[in-house]
Amino acid sequence: MKQKVKPIQVIRVIIQLIAFLTVPALFVTVFSAIGGVVTALVGGSFSISAYLGSIMFVLGIFTATLIWGRFFCGFICSFGAMQDLLHVAGALIPWKVKVPETADKWLKKLKYAVLLFIAAGVWGFSVTGDTVWSPWAVFGIYTSVSAWSSLQYFATLGGGLLILIMIGSLFVERFFCKYLCPLGALFSLTARFRFYPLKRQSAKCGSCKLCATKCPMSVPNSESDKVTSGECINCMKCTEICPKQNITADTIPAISGTLAITAIAGLSYAGIITGMPDIPETEEPSAEITADTESSELFPDGTYTGTGRGFRGDINVTVNVDNGVITDIIVNSYQDDKEFFSRAQSGIIDAVLQTQSTDVDTVSGATFSSSGLIEAIKNAFGEEISAATTAQTAEHSTKTTTEAATNTPFEETEPETFTQQKTVSGKYTDGVYTGCGNGLRGQTNVTVTVENGEITDITVTSYQDDQQFFVRAESNIIAAILAAQSVDVDTVSGATFSSNSIKEAVANALGIEFTNPNSTMQQGHGDRHRH
Ligand code: SF4
Ligand code: SF4
Ligand code: SF4
Repeated sequence: MKQKVKPIQVIRVIIQLIAFLTVPALFVTVFSAIGGVVTALVGGSFSISAYLGSIMFVLGIFTATLIWGRFFCGFICSFGAMQDLLHVAGALIPWKVKVPETADKWLKKLKYAVLLFIAAGVWGFSVTGDTVWSPWAVFGIYTSVSAWSSLQYFATLGGGLLILIMIGSLFVERFFCKYLCPLGALFSLTARFRFYPLKRQSAKCGSCKLCATKCPMSVPNSESDKVTSGECINCMKCTEICPKQNITADTIPAISGTLAITAIAGLSYAGIITGMPDIPETEEPSAEITADTESSELFPDGTYTGTGRGFRGDINVTVNVDNGVITDIIVNSYQDDKEFFSRAQSGIIDAVLQTQSTDVDTVSGATFSSSGLIEAIKNAFGEEISAATTAQTAEHSTKTTTEAATNTPFEETEPETFTQQKTVSGKYTDGVYTGCGNGLRGQTNVTVTVENGEITDITVTSYQDDQQFFVRAESNIIAAILAAQSVDVDTVSGATFSSNSIKEAVANALGIEFTNPNSTMQQGHGDRHRH
């Protein structure tokens, strides 16, 4: 008998398709965010301000799972959607594979072992090999159409595993989700306590057991009045297949709730939704501040507002002037990373209040936020921005890329031609420099400080690689470059792309020759800043 397709499955496929096209690597992001926090905790580099976005993101998605169950797996995860597609294709294959019940039960425990291995080995002790080992990473790479111009990643360990998973999914529905997914293991542990499980009226059932035999996760859901198994991915197939409509769920509120929480958590993680209450209070102006006559003439009394462009967006300020003295500068909003902005905020505001001038130095390691803040203050007074910024840049001998000069990050523009900064003695010319390099997922930006001919500080101002890998590369590579006073240092095993991106960015800042293998391997990804 031909089965009618139920509306909920149509909705599911539409949501899966939209998620695949818009956020194909969301599941990797969730897992990387967890990994980043664990790595930082183990490595002792954890700070709430640096990881708040990751924590909120993970908490959001796991809260939705705790309330409604694994709708993320059933409706949003692209890796799950890929397996669903492969299973449909697998129906055309004449050979069928049936995993015996006992084997299925034991194989399901494998994912907890995978989770344990990654948690202890990869996050805890960084014992990965120097290769792309994760099938998710390879899947993430090939969700970009342009990446298909080169199939080299299928030749990595991760690529091989991905191929095996795809083959397995042809024969066993949700093969990876059931047996191997470490994120699925975490979801499973959470979902078994969910507030709204599927409901079943077992008294009306008889012995059909259709709901159990057709369940992609082999949940034995014909045995109780509630489906509380953490394995359930809320695909809703059982609710549609039951001939007596004995299994029910409040599907629409649950899907809407999960989508809303995931979207809010994701946008917040991406920095698109910015929480403003964290802005520290501006210090009261010091009583020692005195206005000189010239400054007083420059700043007529009043309250002014101004806007400047930071690294991630606009910075808005309110400036008060009393008796010709700038008495208060309040940041009304900003979109830069708090870690960098806070550093710029205290330095710049203090400097402006103390000197009663807007011609102040940028804060090392927070150049974009500093420039944006200075621009906003100048804007409040109606001063010309570009000339001042250019003058300041020249004064510091700061070599900036076109990106920095225009304050429009990630724009596809060619940087200016850099002059060689290295002196004959092998030392560098004093100054603060910015540079960029290519990582696995995009551009890494750094600020490099040179004092007395030595590289004294390297600060990463932004990166797009997965935090889990980047943090591991960051501390080691920066320490190695500072020790060697050269970018000719070893990459960090298991974080090769991020390591090379930092080395390239530092070399770029200092005007040193450096060939980044990432730039060659990543050709075809298309949207990177080219040097
Ligand atoms: S179990 Fe893992 S791969 Fe499967 S849908 Fe959930 S997160 Fe995605
Ligand atoms: S068929 Fe039912 S029990 Fe099985 S995963 Fe889907 S919703 Fe859960
Ligand atoms: S398919 Fe429906 S009637 Fe059959 S066992 Fe499951 S809940 Fe009961």
